[in-house]
Amino acid sequence: MTEHVRSWYAASANPHAPFPRFEGEARCDVAVVGGGYTGLSAALHLAERGYDVILLEGQRIGWGASGRNGGQVVTAYNRSMAQLEGWVGKDDARKLWDMNEEAKSLLRDRVARHDIRCDLKWGYILAALKRRHVAELRETLAEWRAYGYEQARMLSRAETRQLVSCEQYVGGLLDSGSGQLHPLNYALGLAEAARQAGARLYEDSLVQRLDQGDPCVLHTARGKVTANHVILAGNAYLNRISPDVDRIVRPKIMPVSTYMIATEPLGENRAAAVLPGDMAVADINFVLNYYRLSADKRMLFGGGVSYSNLNRPDMQRVMRRTMLKFFPSLADVRIEYCWHGFVGITINRTPHFGRVAPNVYFAHGFSGHGVALTGLAGKLMAEAVAGTAERFDVFARIPHRPFPGGRLFRMPALVLAMAWYRLRDLL
Ligand SMILES: Cc1cc2nc3c(=O)[nH]c(=O)nc-3n(C[C@H](O)[C@H](O)[C@H](O)COP(=O)(O)OP(=O)(O)OC[C@H]3O[C@@H](n4cnc5c(N)ncnc54)[C@H](O)[C@@H]3O)c2cc1C
Repeated sequence: MTEHVRSWYAASANPHAPFPRFEGEARCDVAVVGGGYTGLSAALHLAERGYDVILLEGQRIGWGASGRNGGQVVTAYNRSMAQLEGWVGKDDARKLWDMNEEAKSLLRDRVARHDIRCDLKWGYILAALKRRHVAELRETLAEWRAYGYEQARMLSRAETRQLVSCEQYVGGLLDSGSGQLHPLNYALGLAEAARQAGARLYEDSLVQRLDQGDPCVLHTARGKVTANHVILAGNAYLNRISPDVDRIVRPKIMPVSTYMIATEPLGENRAAAVLPGDMAVADINFVLNYYRLSADKRMLFGGGVSYSNLNRPDMQRVMRRTMLKFFPSLADVRIEYCWHGFVGITINRTPHFGRVAPNVYFAHGFSGHGVALTGLAGKLMAEAVAGTAERFDVFARIPHRPFPGGRLFRMPALVLAMAWYRLRDLL
């Protein structure tokens, strides 16, 4: 069986028994493809509502982005509310805002209710590297306040530096409604909760083909599952399982490699000297850097993207160099882990929800804002299966376009676009 990628998360995962491989034939109400947060949340919610659910994960539970990410639980979307209002109108934008807040509450509640040991804590800083960023953060805050959000405030340069010992920051936004967690342990906890609720979970069970119909049939290497409804939760890792999935789902998402490093433990004093506020931090460059301390006081530093989709062997060096630009005092600290994963991005950087057929739902493309939102995505797909699709359809109304250039040529176009944004960050 494939193992989780070598990461600090895998090394510090809570003990968990593997789930079996799917073999033979089975019938169920709902088949879920993918065992990341989206699929696990859908399975949990459906099982709690009494549905008979089979979840098929191609590798291990939490093997994709859900077991590798920065662990930052963030407020709002990757685009401003003004942009969302322009795309979907004020009423739907209001619902999208409220549902994003619900996503964070849902995560908080599930962690508490299922006693998921994932080091969840709150407090988050969006840091400004330039005066232009301070102005952008003020606009963000004004927008959040207009939506009734009162948990954030601006930080002066001095206040920011009291919380983050980084000379480069000129200000920031403190958000006590955003936070951090151990991503893989959160995924494993959701899986255990879904199992206890009655869902049947399988690992090492890649869906190779989906025959759409009523019912649908999903084929794995060793068996087939017949289901009245299907939930596609493969996100950036979803393979070509049916012509409709290839036509409707995959062209609108781009898997982009992004990287993380984990240092050796810094020790209490040194960790407190670097991040006195012990909060998750991100800057607001287009290609952003994000970091936080692990429970055992390592620096977990993420950023850097590669559009070639290859695991670049020089990334540990590149990431370390970036980290040292922010924290030169860590020059003597060893890097113990470096890993990468695919973020699923859409052209407009908002999640893409929809149907491949009346009984086949998907939600993907969380564009780097998925830790909390995926939980809600799973819940909304579960609601839609149960016959109440109004909330799912608010997301489904966000307009999405396929990446230009088709599957072969879209990469160079994206690389050019990203190079431009990168240049803008540097200026
Ligand atoms: C390095 C990194 C850092 C990130 N940092 C953050 C962050 O700090 N905050 C934030 O909000 N978001 C972050 N993200 C994004 C976030 O991790 C994702 O939005 C979220 O985990 C997506 O969850 P998911 O369940 O939709 O997809 P995934 O977790 O990717 O799960 C999809 C699963 O589907 C399985 N699968 C695919 N096809 C099949 C098939 N045919 N049959 C069976 N199984 C299949 C895959 O094996 C995979 O396990 C980050 C992502 C990465 C990679």
